[in-house]
Amino acid sequence: MERLPPPVAPFRRPPGPPARCVAAGLLLLLGFCQVAAARTVAYANGRWFDGERFTTGTRYAVDGRLVAAPPASVDARVDLAQRWVVPPFAEAHNHNLQNAANLGRFRDLYLREGVFYAAMLCGNEADNKSVRDALRARGDLRLVQTVCVSSPDGHPLGMVMADLRRSGSDAGPETVRDRFYVSLETREDIDAKWPLIRAARPDWIKAILVHSEDPARRADPKTFGYNGLAPELLAPLVARAHADGLRVAVHTDSAADFETAVRAGADIIAHLPGYAIRPGKQAGDYRLGDAALAEAARRGTVVIATASIAAFIAGKDADALRKIQVVQKDNLRRLRAAGVPIAMGSDRFTGTSLAEYDYLAGFGLFTPAELLRMLSMDTPKLLFPNERIGCLEDGCRADFLVLDADPLVDGQAVHRIVRRVMGGAELPPPASP
Ligand SMILES: [Zn+2]
Repeated sequence: MERLPPPVAPFRRPPGPPARCVAAGLLLLLGFCQVAAARTVAYANGRWFDGERFTTGTRYAVDGRLVAAPPASVDARVDLAQRWVVPPFAEAHNHNLQNAANLGRFRDLYLREGVFYAAMLCGNEADNKSVRDALRARGDLRLVQTVCVSSPDGHPLGMVMADLRRSGSDAGPETVRDRFYVSLETREDIDAKWPLIRAARPDWIKAILVHSEDPARRADPKTFGYNGLAPELLAPLVARAHADGLRVAVHTDSAADFETAVRAGADIIAHLPGYAIRPGKQAGDYRLGDAALAEAARRGTVVIATASIAAFIAGKDADALRKIQVVQKDNLRRLRAAGVPIAMGSDRFTGTSLAEYDYLAGFGLFTPAELLRMLSMDTPKLLFPNERIGCLEDGCRADFLVLDADPLVDGQAVHRIVRRVMGGAELPPPASP
């Protein structure tokens, strides 16, 4: 797990306006700059979310941490005017910050939507390094990085090959394997290729299962590049990862994949099975089994639903979307009833977890407080369990968002962010698209 830097970074410079404020030189930004330069800021008259409800009060950001008791001196005071304060949001499954070029392209979107923490779920050595270097230079967003592990004929091979062909390359699969992802065929490969996995410096391993109960797929040229690991490799892979202190997230397509992943000891399920019904498969192939649900609850396996990807895949096919939503609602209702923790992740390349929040809110299966907790508390803690984030209590990192409406009443309130505070300092308004 990559540690967050100490929360005092914005305060290390000597007293005086930060360099970017001097450069901006805009009267409009003056108020923001005074707050950004202060060591101790009183955020007064806010309504602060505790996971269930909002309570009115004042909190102080002292050296980047939240404090409830007034400190000896206060450098700046911000009146929150009874607005709603929530921890910043997290995105548990995306790919749009997976390399440095896309980080440059999508960073402002994340800041604009208040998503300060994110997990990029199919990393490799070169891309992870480029992102680490870029983040070191800039600070702000905090990312979980992964390394993708799949079979020699497995996802993401097909996708990468299609991209290469589009760019005019005739490179074969051997140029993709062990470069864009780590390819495992046998148990011996796990130890033999462990150095490759470590070289990517992952926080999590992302292992791919795609209808692992159906080996006939491997003989079908149409699914070449879109398969996944042989199911018997998963338990030894998880054991090896856990021995090295790495968590494992598993891409699952079918209900059988889900059960295999849970029983193999996966920490995280990266997709709720049933975001699309594959050719030749039935809705029943995606209905989670009661025993698998009970086992996931017992083990505390976290499910990143990425349910909204169904709308993207279905496109204009309203009938296909209706069918898959029946499966999704049934699975989500039963996950909730079984007490399986659910995290918020969208897998939407042009979006963030807010797309998933909106989609899940539309199902009406979760209370507004549950959805807000998933987005702003449970998912940040899943990504960075050793950090005091996803909370607004004494000692938590002074990262928060101020909303213009009550998210427990208004489903659109999470889109109405009026202030973004990171490490106690207010961020300048991010660029608009
Ligand atoms: Zn994905």
